This record gives sequence, structure tokens and C-alpha cells, in this order.
Amino acid sequence: MPAYSGLERRRVYDIRFRRYERLLEVARTLSGTLDLPALLRNIIEAAIELTDTEAASIMLADSRTGQLRFEASTDPSAAVMESIVVPVEGSIAGAIFSTGKPLMIDDVAADPRHYRGVDNRMTFVTRSILGVPLVSKEKSIGVLQALNKKEGEAFTQEDLHFLEALAAQAAVAIVTARLFQQSDLIAEMVHELRTPLAALSASSHLLLRSDLSADQREEMVCTIQSETSRLATMTTDFLDLARLESGRARFVREAFDLPKLVRECVQVVQPQADSRRVTLDVLLPGDWRPVFADRSKIKQVLLNLLTNAVKYNREAGTVHVSGLDAPDHVSITVIDSGRGIPPQALPHIFEKFYRVADSEGWTQGTGLGLAIAKRIVEAHGGAMLIGSTVNVGTAFTFTLPRGK
Ligand code: ADP
Repeated sequence: MPAYSGLERRRVYDIRFRRYERLLEVARTLSGTLDLPALLRNIIEAAIELTDTEAASIMLADSRTGQLRFEASTDPSAAVMESIVVPVEGSIAGAIFSTGKPLMIDDVAADPRHYRGVDNRMTFVTRSILGVPLVSKEKSIGVLQALNKKEGEAFTQEDLHFLEALAAQAAVAIVTARLFQQSDLIAEMVHELRTPLAALSASSHLLLRSDLSADQREEMVCTIQSETSRLATMTTDFLDLARLESGRARFVREAFDLPKLVRECVQVVQPQADSRRVTLDVLLPGDWRPVFADRSKIKQVLLNLLTNAVKYNREAGTVHVSGLDAPDHVSITVIDSGRGIPPQALPHIFEKFYRVADSEGWTQGTGLGLAIAKRIVEAHGGAMLIGSTVNVGTAFTFTLPRGK
């Protein structure tokens, strides 16, 4: 036991008291947070405060592969981190995860288990680690780590004690949030499936009637065809969204030429545009430096924006695609000359299953495309912006940070 002076002892007790207070406060916040990303951010902030460190991170095990992945961290380039898989064998986090025991390492450079794959790809340099397992129902679900004790001090038993108390709360909250998310999404999906299923059931029953004309029969068959394809799109979109929401969507980042991808997507929607005599023009001047992102997911974003720009356009309207290659980010803007989106609908436009009331019956859709697109862009650390004027048109812009 170090010998404290009266004043010092007082200071130590004050700090300890504040930490207990904070732990109680955190416990209340965590149990009431069902939004997973917000929950993970809260855990990170609490871990830093409770252990007096520079940074913290949460790694969760992928239920299919058993690998550990960064789900949240202090670092602003979290998008880069989230693509990093930490090996269970040969890493400090992996050792904590597989043994279910905490580790306190004051000099990671001297520890052979330290996985350098993370620091190599970040500006952050890890000096010391205090890591504890996240355990739910006696099963490790991941690891919570506090990194770099401030002012070069060593971690204490008390830091460990507080981080373990936080991890116990955090693990329960994470499992609850995941379950809630799933049941919420399933309830919405079931609700949305009812409409096409009702249409299919009504049309197939009507087809059995003998008094239908050939035209009526054809109309029924067309309804069955379009509702079946709507169901198919819905299930694929729904799976995409479920993966994105639960953090199970995997991003394979690579360097690619964004203007080239834009032109490729424009070609895909060209026949659709031609059939409505909509002109598509692309203005992406100059040589762009390659973008580092998941190409197929960004393609999905672009196709959604372009398809909408054609779908919700007027006959013989226009779609302009432009972009910006800035030092720290890139952006793509799609502007159409369509019917626009009423101001009261704008705040809801990225919500899943949301469709502007008039869109129903006007054109087919699931209301999932924009929700998926926004989540993909945000998972890359970018942003999705919208501006619209009724009867003039709509502009969507998405940005992507320039990662490594
Ligand atoms: P979907 O097109 O399948 O309905 P989205 O999620 O892509 O689903 O879009 C949600 C809703 O936003 C659409 O139903 C439509 O009402 C509106 N919307 C999307 N893009 C545009 C656009 N470019 N112009 C006008 N309205 C749009």
C-alpha cells in the first residue's frame, strides 16, 4: 500500500467516489439504450472515464466465423478499424476472449501477443492495454479494452475493478439491444409482407372464377407477377438491412475508380431512363485519386439513387450526376427534375419502409432502398444529404472520407 498524506487520501477517495457515481449513472443509461451504435458509444465513453485512459474499443465476436471485429472505438477513423479482423490466436484481445480472463499490460511493445495489424493501419499508437471479456450467460461475446493510461501511469487493480463492472453491464445491454433490434425489424417486415401477400391471394382466387374475360385474366396474372417480384426484392433488401442494422454486414474495402463506377451504374439504369425519355448526364471532370471503400456496396448506393432519380422523375426529365474529389473526402451528387419531396416527408425519407404517400400506386418500391443506402454510406464514415423542392426536383449527395 502506498503511504498517502491526508490530502492525497482525500483526493483518491474523491476520485473513487466520482467513479462509483459515474458507474451508477452509466448503468442507468445502458439499460435504457436499445440503439446499438449509441449504446456502444456510451460504453466507450464510460470506459475512458472510468479508467482514465486516452482511448477505448469494443470488439465483438462474429457468430459465424468466431473472429473478433472492432464494433466501436474512440478513433475517428472507425470506418477503417471496423474492417480489421483481429485474430483470436496471436492477439491480446483474442487471449482475453478465449480465456475469459482480463489482462493488464503496461507495455504492449514488450508483449509478443500484441497484434500490430491495428496500429499499422491507424495513426494511434497503443502503449498500454487493460482488457476485459464481455460475458453474457457465461459465454464470451467480445472484449472491452481501455488503451493508454493517461500521463504514462500504470493501470491499477481499481481500474480493472471498474472496467469489469462496466463490462458486466455492457454485455447484458449489448445482447438486449441486439434482440430488440431483431424483433423490431421482424415485426415491421411481417407487417410489410401482408400487402403483397394479400394482393397475391386476392388475384389467385379471382383467377379461379369462370366469368373472367381474357383481359381481366391477363391483368390478374400481371398483378401476381409484379407482386411476386416485389416480394423477392423486399426479402433481399430486408436481409441487407438486417445485416447492416445488427452490424453483421461485412465490408470489403478496396481501391477503385469512383467516376468509372458511376458511369457503369448510369449504363445500368439507361434503358429505364430511355423508356421514360429521361436524359442522364454525368459530369465528373479530372483524374480522381482512387477511393478506398466497398465497391459493390457503393454501387448499390449509386444504383438506388439513380433508379429513384429516374423513377420519380417526370416524362422527358433530366438527371445530372456530378462529383467532387476533395483532399479529405469525395462526394457524388444526383439531381433530378422530378416531383420533389414535400418538406414534411423529408425527415422520414431515410426511415425503413417509408414511402411518400403519393409514391404508392405511382411507382413500385419497398421503401428500403434509401434506408440501406444511408447505412452503407455511414458505415464507411460518410454522410448522406438531401435537398428537395416540390415540382422542381431532388438532390441527393453522399460523401465518403478518404481513408488509406
Ligand atoms: P422505394 O423507391 O423502393 O420506395 P426508397 O427507400 O428508395 O424506396 O425511397 C423511399 C421513398 O422516397 C420513395 O418511395 C419516394 O417516395 C421517395 N423518393 C426517393 N427518391 C426520390 C426522388 N429522387 N424524388 C422524389 N421522391 C423520392
